[in-house]
Parts: sequence; structure tokens; C-alpha cells
Amino acid sequence: MNRYDVIIIGSGLGSLLCGYILSKEGFKICILEKQAIPGGCLQSFSRGGNSFDTGIHYIGSMLPGQTLHSYWKYFGLSDALDLERMNEDCFDLVTLEGRDYKFAQGFDRFTASLAGQFPGSGEFLDRYVKALKETVSAFPLYNLELTDKMTKTTWMGTNAWDFMSEMAGPDPGNQKLLQVLSGNNFLYAGRKQTTPWHQYALINHSFISSSWRLRQGSTQITELLVAGIIANGGTLLTRNEVRKISSLKNKFQVETAAHENFVAGRVIAGIHPQRAISLLEPEMVKKSFRSRIVSMENTVSSFGLYLGLKPVSFPYLDHNLYYHCSHDVWTDSEKKAEDWPGMYFLYTPAAARQGEHSSAVCILSYMEFDEVKKWKNTSTGRRGRDYKAFKEEKALKLLELVERKFPGLRSYIETMEISTPLTWRDYTGAPEGSMYGIRKESGNYLRTMILPHTKIQGFYFTGQNLNMHGAPGVTIGAVMTCAEILGLEYLFNKIRDAG
Ligand SMILES: Cc1cc2nc3c(=O)[nH]c(=O)nc-3n(C[C@H](O)[C@H](O)[C@H](O)COP(=O)(O)OP(=O)(O)OC[C@H]3O[C@@H](n4cnc5c(N)ncnc54)[C@H](O)[C@@H]3O)c2cc1C
Repeated sequence: MNRYDVIIIGSGLGSLLCGYILSKEGFKICILEKQAIPGGCLQSFSRGGNSFDTGIHYIGSMLPGQTLHSYWKYFGLSDALDLERMNEDCFDLVTLEGRDYKFAQGFDRFTASLAGQFPGSGEFLDRYVKALKETVSAFPLYNLELTDKMTKTTWMGTNAWDFMSEMAGPDPGNQKLLQVLSGNNFLYAGRKQTTPWHQYALINHSFISSSWRLRQGSTQITELLVAGIIANGGTLLTRNEVRKISSLKNKFQVETAAHENFVAGRVIAGIHPQRAISLLEPEMVKKSFRSRIVSMENTVSSFGLYLGLKPVSFPYLDHNLYYHCSHDVWTDSEKKAEDWPGMYFLYTPAAARQGEHSSAVCILSYMEFDEVKKWKNTSTGRRGRDYKAFKEEKALKLLELVERKFPGLRSYIETMEISTPLTWRDYTGAPEGSMYGIRKESGNYLRTMILPHTKIQGFYFTGQNLNMHGAPGVTIGAVMTCAEILGLEYLFNKIRDAG
């Protein structure tokens, strides 16, 4: 029997951060991960000499004093990560109806740059940036403040689209700008009149503050956190899929696929809550809680191309590209069949930089699970020829669209890996391969919110479903989870002291 103070299920970013905090605080922790390699969405993979990130392509707010930098100092990440600052005049390029629009880093530069591209929009942009800042300042944890200041509720329950439309006013000149400001909505799987304004604001504020790529790939985050956990005396066991959680004399018994049992006084589930609930013995969970969790809707999944390219064939881009076909970017996540793909996100990994050129490019687009539903009972490598044909047909469609901007791309390809919603489902365990887990809905915000603690004493959630997805969201979520065990003030002071 393996006995621990805390068992953490899954080794995604949220789990690793919790493992780091609790092991540093002297808890005997064990992380159980079903895959052979830890990290979940932090993992990178290699093909043909290129390394590809899967779930973290860039991170925001990593200048000293900014949100993520301040938190990650505590975890030993801020000074250790090998970061490349993205183009300060254009970290995100949004292409809409054939025209390019640049997002610059730093709020003044961001406003000046877009005002130059949209003459007459200066006042709207000032209001927009002020609203971003005010919204973020209302979240104490994003500002490393320990107060009960979270009182501003004017935008709580408001969706990003309506909130911004009201700010833009009736001026027809601002309508296109509204679309451009939503052009990177792949970052939050944006849905018109659903995506909460504050979710939009927290994400955009972070990247406008400063944007960075990881030269050694996002796997460097995993490596540093795992090394810290091990140095603190913690345990990480890969190839250990948790299959069942039962109660055992005021403790939890956690059983893996290999029928090995682990016992702990506390369990943190760093996996999707719908999966976590299905692992608990039925009598441990109240029916109402189970049905609330099970009925929650998830964000859409994605389709990805990871291309290895011939030498000196493709430029290294020090910005991301969000390319949209339609004039309404908020409809892109729902495009299927004939209309697919409505958009794509393209970037060249920092690790692939070869002077002015890149040896690799990644292209992602939305894809609903329905598209691959007929293969839902298959497993990786055994999905059959028709699945392979499906993937190739979709890859061709996506490449044809990308070639409108980068003619000849197909002739540069040396290697091609393809991911679908099934890849994501089997790789992270997220239902239907959902990118960002449970969909936060402005009109239903409290119902779509997952808290770190549950009614099952000693059983907690962490990860992207909790607070928010993305590096800062998951980091603050992990702090919220560990604060349930350590006390928020105590933990918070430690984090602030480290900064
Ligand atoms: C396509 C894509 C692009 C993204 N791009 C960015 C970006 O550029 N910047 C950014 O900040 N964020 C980005 N994100 C979001 C970010 O990657 C995630 O929010 C974050 O990494 C999720 O971390 P998590 O802790 O929730 O765990 P996950 O990464 O979901 O990991 C969960 C882990 O649990 C394991 N697991 C599942 N079930 C079990 C079980 N029963 N037993 C044991 N282990 C189990 C899985 O194998 C996995 O390792 C992106 C996400 C996606 C999908």
C-alpha cells in the first residue's frame, strides 16, 4: 500500500503547480499520470528533428512585476525559462477579409498602433483599454493583492461581444475594429454573446502586457516543475491511470488501471471534473452535484497540422497569425462541413528558428467532435483507413486556405503530423477533446464555475476548469486549490515574498 498526504491526479500544469507548492510545504505528495510523459497540454513532441508544442504556444505577462512573472518566480520558473520576446510592434497579426491588423505589446503602443490602422477610433480604443485594466484590477489575485476588493460587478454576467459593442457605440467605423479586437478568439474558443467579458479581458490583458515564446518548448515548464517536486521529496508516477476513487476510513483509496492502490487523506483532481466525478464511487457524490457537473457544456475541440519544412523555404514569424475568412469571427468555432475551416491560427515554434527561416510551422483550427464521432470507440494508431482519409482530406482543405497567404506551402512540407478532437480526447482525457474544458457562460456564470473545494471533504479540483484556462488562469487556480489546504494568506505571503 502506498500512503501519501495528498494524491494528485494528472500531471498537467495545474497538478504540477499544486505538487510543487504542497511538496515545498512538506506534504508527502504523489502525482499519478496516465501517459508515459508528464505535462498534459505542456508536452512537446518531436518529428523529423523538429519539436512541436501542443498546448502552450505563447505566454503573456512575463516582464518583472507582471502577473505570470510574479507567480512563476515562486515556482522557480521566471528566471529559469528560456524565453523569446515576440515582436513588440506585432505579436498577434489578425487577417480579416484579406487585410492585416497588428496587435502591439504594451497598452500605449497597442492603442496607437490600432488607432493608426482605424482612423477615428482613438476614443473607443482608450475606453477599451481602460475597461481591460479596470476589469483585471478587480481581480485581486491577478494583481497579487490579498483583499476582498472584488466588488465591481457592472460587467459580471456581461458577455464580451455586447460589452464591447456598447463601448464602440453606433459609429460604423468601429464595427470592423470590434471584429479585429476579437480576432484572436481561438485563445478562448469565443462564442458570441456567451464568452464572459472578464474572461476575454484577463486573457487579452495578459498578452498585451507582454508576449513570449518558449525557446525550448513548453516542455521546459514541465521539466523545471518536476525537478522542483522531486527535489522537495515529492513523487511523480507516469503510466498510472487512475480508474477508481473510494473512501477508506476517512481517507481516499485511489486505484490505478494496473490495480495498484494508493491511500491519502486528500485528493486533488487535476483532470476534467466530468472525468473526475466518474472515478468516484457513486455514494461519495451527491446526485445534484453529479448532475450539475455532468450537464455542463465544454468548449470546442481543434484540428492541428504540425509541419516539418524544407530548409530555407518558410520565414520565421516572430508573431502569431489569426486568419479569418468571414467578416464575423465569432461564428468561426461553429463552422463545419462545407464551411470548414472558417479560420486558422498559425505560428512558427521558437525552437524551429533558423536565422530568418523556420524549419517548422503549426496550424490549428476549430473542429467539433461530431466530425470524428464515428471513430469514437477507436484508439490511437487503430482508427482505420477511413479515418486516415478523413484526416488527409481535412488537412488538404486547411492547407489550401493557408496557401492563400503562403503560396507554395505544400511543396515545402517534409513531414506532417495531424491531430483531431480524438487525439486531444485520448491525450488529455478531456471529454470530446475539448480545448479549454468547461465553457464559461456569461449568462450563467455561477453555474459554469468550478470551485476548488467540493462537498466531499478532502477532495479538490485544480486545472483549467477551475478558474480559467491558460498559463495565468491555471496558475491562479492552483494557488486557490492549495489555499484550501494551507490558507490563502499564508500561501499568498510566500508567493509574494518570492517575487
Ligand atoms: C490547442 C491548445 C492551445 C493552447 N494554447 C495556449 C497558449 O498558447 N497559451 C496558454 O497560456 N495556454 C494555452 N492553452 C491552454 C493551456 O494549455 C491549458 O489551459 C493548460 O495547460 C491546462 O492544464 P491542466 O492543468 O488543466 O491539465 P491538462 O493539460 O488538461 O492535463 C491533464 C493531465 O491529466 C492526465 N489524466 C487525465 N485523466 C487521468 C487519469 N484518469 N489518471 C491519471 N492521469 C490522467 C492527462 O493525461 C494529462 O496529462 C492551449 C490549450 C490548447 C488545447
